[in-house]
Amino acid sequence: MDKDKELSKLKKIIFKLNKNFPKKNLVFADGDQDAQVMIIGEAPGKTEDKLQKPFVGRAGKLLDDLLKHIHLNRTKVYITNVVNYRPDKNRKPKSDEIDEFKKTLFKHVDIIRPKLILLLGATAATAVLNHSGPLNEIRGQWKRVKILNNNFDVLTTFHPAFLLRNSSKKKLALNDFIKLKQKFL
Ligand code: URA
Repeated sequence: MDKDKELSKLKKIIFKLNKNFPKKNLVFADGDQDAQVMIIGEAPGKTEDKLQKPFVGRAGKLLDDLLKHIHLNRTKVYITNVVNYRPDKNRKPKSDEIDEFKKTLFKHVDIIRPKLILLLGATAATAVLNHSGPLNEIRGQWKRVKILNNNFDVLTTFHPAFLLRNSSKKKLALNDFIKLKQKFL
């Protein structure tokens, strides 16, 4: 598969999904398109919208720290979000938006074909695992998930923005990142 070609086709499709996000920039992805690990967040914030890159604001700095802890950095993983535009006033994406972007997210996963997927927070868990209960029910657990025609190992952890507000949970998040590293060593 020509990943460059497929990714640019996908980008063009996502460009047209901006009706709920007037005047917002498309924030597509960052990192290595051949990475073994694909990280999926919720939606871009203000800094991400401005710089057109996922996870470059405060939550992104914490994600960088967590990756560093397992000797990774953003050039060695592939990072995207469920929703590729910044929702106004940092609201959470609505369920119909998650449903709409789920189709392009699944295509994105199909193109990257990572070995492992790390979901950050509830929106990503809803989109990929169809999970709508408390995050604690699934956090830290590996799931085998079929996305389009392939199965992927998927781990869920806290969203870094949540960790910024709840620093006592950072230890659990670190354990999840160690679990991720152990799986691909
Ligand atoms: N939060 C997200 O979910 N994604 C980003 O890119 C930034 C903050």
